[in-house]
Amino acid sequence: TSDSVVVDVDGMRMRYGSIDVLHGVAFQVHRGEVLALLGPNGAGKTTTIEILEGFRMRSAGRVAVLGADPAHGTEQWRARVGIVLQSWRDHGNWRVRELLRHLGSLYACYSTDRVRRPRDPDELARAVGLTEHADRKIRTLSGGQRRRLDVAIGIVGRPELLFLDEPTAGLDPEARRVFHDLVHQLSAQDETTILLTTHDLNEAEKLASRIVILNGGRIAADGTAAELARRIAGEDEVRWTR
Ligand code: ATP
Repeated sequence: TSDSVVVDVDGMRMRYGSIDVLHGVAFQVHRGEVLALLGPNGAGKTTTIEILEGFRMRSAGRVAVLGADPAHGTEQWRARVGIVLQSWRDHGNWRVRELLRHLGSLYACYSTDRVRRPRDPDELARAVGLTEHADRKIRTLSGGQRRRLDVAIGIVGRPELLFLDEPTAGLDPEARRVFHDLVHQLSAQDETTILLTTHDLNEAEKLASRIVILNGGRIAADGTAAELARRIAGEDEVRWTR
């Protein structure tokens, strides 16, 4: 794998019991790309992203993320990968800024030439539009504000590669706009490679330099938004509605 290929997936299969949900998926993410994995409910987007994050073990196939098999990622590897979890609700008595500072100090322990310096808590709160809420307790935040916090937590460590699973689901238009600006900023200024999932074609077109369409556990198309728009206009089977 060359250094410019950040995610390399080939022949990836996933089977739950006797049901196959991924049927030999293959795609690559190159350094600096924002790649949208686009598809309807049940297409296998979350399963794919969780395998790449190292949370699920694939049934078959070859997967390399930053040159390593995510199922066997080291702590150093994990510090270079940004993951958005929704588990911080349990820290409801902490204030937003306290939590961001705490996590930054944990990441600082990993600082090496490969792991980047963690982000400042106030800069983070600003980036996700939570400046006014930085002194609030986490349990008093609204659902959308918590989603913003979840994303802030995912980027505390300035990851080289960021995974975002349906990051704008349930967000209002203003929160969506803040989030879109953030993706552009992470990509342009921080050179973060981003793999996000969405079922919204408009969002994929707005954010992504390349779109991979997943349908029924198979890759249906892979290309730039313009290439896919031409194909969708020309061939109905590229549409992902079943
Ligand atoms: P959505 O947009 O609804 O989140 P998705 O594209 O992320 O969908 P997945 O969550 O990856 O899709 O699910 C793909 C298929 O795998 C679905 O049919 C789902 O029911 C099935 N599935 C997911 N997790 C499990 C599990 N733990 N056990 C059995 N089946 C599962």
